[in-house]
Amino acid sequence: MSGRFSGMKRSKAGARSEKLFASERQKMVRRQLKARGIRDKALLRAMKAVPRELFVPENLREFSYDDSPLPIGEAQTISQPYVVALMVEAAGLTSNSRVLEIGAGSGYCVAIMSHLAGRVYAIERDEALAEELPSRLAELGCTNIEIRAGDGSAGWVEEAPFDAIIVSAVAPHIAQPLLSQLAPDGRLIVPVARGTDNQRLMKVTRRGEDDFSEEDLGGVHFVPLIGEEAFAPAG
Ligand code: SAM
Repeated sequence: MSGRFSGMKRSKAGARSEKLFASERQKMVRRQLKARGIRDKALLRAMKAVPRELFVPENLREFSYDDSPLPIGEAQTISQPYVVALMVEAAGLTSNSRVLEIGAGSGYCVAIMSHLAGRVYAIERDEALAEELPSRLAELGCTNIEIRAGDGSAGWVEEAPFDAIIVSAVAPHIAQPLLSQLAPDGRLIVPVARGTDNQRLMKVTRRGEDDFSEEDLGGVHFVPLIGEEAFAPAG
C-alpha cells in the first residue's frame, strides 16, 4: 500500500500516532493471527498494511488492535481481526478472484480483500454505513471495488459468478441464490445460526453444477443478516 496516504496532510502528532498504530498492527498480526494459525502470506501482509484505526469511530481508536469486534454505529460492528483473517483465508483469494462481501459494515474486510483479489463487490444494508464506504476506501487507494447499498442476502446476480462470497453477518440458513452465484470451485463463507447462541462458520465449495461440499470452520459470534433470504427485521 505504499504511497496510499501521500495525499493526506500529516501533523507531527498524527505521524507519531500513525507509527504507534503501525506497531500495534504488527503485534496484532503476530499474536492474534499467526499464533492462531493464519498462514497465507499475502493475507498477513494485507493485515499488516490496512490501518484498522481508520475504520472505527474516533473515540474508540485506541482499541483498534484489540482482539475483539468494536461498535461502528447503527448498532453494527467491525469484526474481530482474527475472524476477518479466518474468513478471507478460507475464501482462498488470488489476484484473479472476483469476490463478494455481503455486510460490508465499516469496509475493513473489503479493504483487506482489495489487496488480494482482482475485483471486490460489497453490499451493505444500512444506508448510513454504506454511504461512508466509497470515500473511506478511495482514500486508502482501493480502486478495484464496487459497492452497493441494500439487502444483499440473495447476492448480486448481475455481477455473478463469484470465485468467493463472504457473508459477514449470521444467516438462518445457507441461501440457494448464493450457491448458484458461485463459479466452479467457488467458496461461500457464511456464519449460520444453529439454535440459540450457537453460530457455526461454514465453508461451502462448489464441486459441480449441483454438487457442494461443506466444512465447519468453528464457532463464531455475528450480528444477524436481515433480509429476503435471511432473518426478518426486529419489530
Ligand atoms: N465485515 C464488516 C467490517 O469489516 O466492518 C463487518 C460487518 S458487520 C459484523 C455486519 C454487517 O452486515 C452490518 O453492517 C449490517 O448492517 C450488515 N447487514 C445485515 N444484513 C444485511 C443484508 N441483508 N445485506 C447487506 N448487509 C447486511
